[in-house]
Amino acid sequence: MKKSSKKNVPHKSNNKNVLYWAAGALLFAAGFLALGRYWGHQENNYDPYQALKGYESSRHAFMVKSSEVSVNMAQRAVEALQKGKLNEAIEDCKTSIDIFPIDAKPYILLTKIYLMTGQEQKIYDTLTLAGRSYPNFDNIVGIIDDGSLDKIPLDGPQDNVFLANFPENKKMAVSFMFDDGEANVYHALPTFEKYGYRATIPVVAGFVADKSNDPFWGSWAEWRDAASRGFEIANHSMYHRDSVNLHGKDFDIAIDQSKEIIEKNVGHKVTAYVFPHDSYTDEAVSRALRKHEVVRTPEFLRPFYDREVEIVLGGPHVSIETGERLVDIGLKRRLWLVLKCHGVTEKRTMRSFKSITPEFLEAYLSYIHSRSDDIWVDTFSNVFEYMSRRALTKIETKGFTEDTIDFVLHNDRSREKLSVPLTVVIRVQPGESVESANGANGRKFKAWNCAADKICVDVDAYDEKVHVQY
Ligand SMILES: [Zn+2]
Repeated sequence: MKKSSKKNVPHKSNNKNVLYWAAGALLFAAGFLALGRYWGHQENNYDPYQALKGYESSRHAFMVKSSEVSVNMAQRAVEALQKGKLNEAIEDCKTSIDIFPIDAKPYILLTKIYLMTGQEQKIYDTLTLAGRSYPNFDNIVGIIDDGSLDKIPLDGPQDNVFLANFPENKKMAVSFMFDDGEANVYHALPTFEKYGYRATIPVVAGFVADKSNDPFWGSWAEWRDAASRGFEIANHSMYHRDSVNLHGKDFDIAIDQSKEIIEKNVGHKVTAYVFPHDSYTDEAVSRALRKHEVVRTPEFLRPFYDREVEIVLGGPHVSIETGERLVDIGLKRRLWLVLKCHGVTEKRTMRSFKSITPEFLEAYLSYIHSRSDDIWVDTFSNVFEYMSRRALTKIETKGFTEDTIDFVLHNDRSREKLSVPLTVVIRVQPGESVESANGANGRKFKAWNCAADKICVDVDAYDEKVHVQY
């Protein structure tokens, strides 16, 4: 093998991509000229919040007026786009959503703008936002076309030896989370086990039923059983109060005491805290992180893995096709898809407001399983464990020859053996196949050709020299 090919390749300039986007944005604006004519015009000095004044007294009148004002704002966004004022268009869309979050149009406009301007993370943030309300989610996801997505650069590692995004160098990770701990979720666990998958169930400690067969909440016996079968039970507070309203000692109950109660009853350590209503303050986050390893917020997770995406899966406007589409996008874009679910039931009750049916779950897991070579499905905390290890671990190359390479993994914070091995990827010439990967005293590591020009090695120890022969 030629050693010159092992040199790091510098980052390519993104100028070409900028041109693509500019051209795309022009085409895009032209398209909106036509749409704008169709949707009509709106004067400029319109204050949406002022327009709502006087309607507060009647809930119904306020809803109707909010809807009307929201449509006006979406129209104004279209007009801003026609004039090439992207930022104004984005602000108008956000206001439109803020006032009446149920209409799909402003989400669609935002998604298109972010798609055309290459702001990929904001596309996912828009989907996350849409999941909080009841817009037509299928229509929003449906406008993400592959041609535009492919034009957004996907920065990969440039080194010749690097840590894989996911174990076994898979292309994406999926974590299912069933917030609130409904009893029907316990009955859906065998569907996960059938495919060898595990999910996370964030339970509300104060709501868990004392006895099984509760019509709504899962019981301690059920969650204890789930945990013993490898499912993760996470902390979703004591009484599901919005963290924004908590102060001082409230946090002790909502965060610390609920954790103790769950651990005592389930018999497993709780590592993840999930904020009720996905609502949190800086204080709430720091309180939760005192006794938990991880919280489910993009701000906390993305420094560990910037393609972490949280999307609601469930409700009448998320079809199985949309669920599958999210997986297809995830594979293409190397996402860690955190799917926020609620119940698994045929019944639509007020409480099970964003449930999926057992048939949906079966079909969806089957779809994911058909791509199991590329998709890692695991609990929220297990994926986070890999992500945080990966982010804190450095590879030191100790030397190489024509057909060997020696390297060591270092982690300043930890020297303990890894519970989940980190997958190290080595670039080689196409066709070169791995012979062995040995640690100290001839200890063998799992090594295999994970692509025509790549060798993968699973390493579960720090500070141990790994010698790879190929
Ligand atoms: Zn909840």
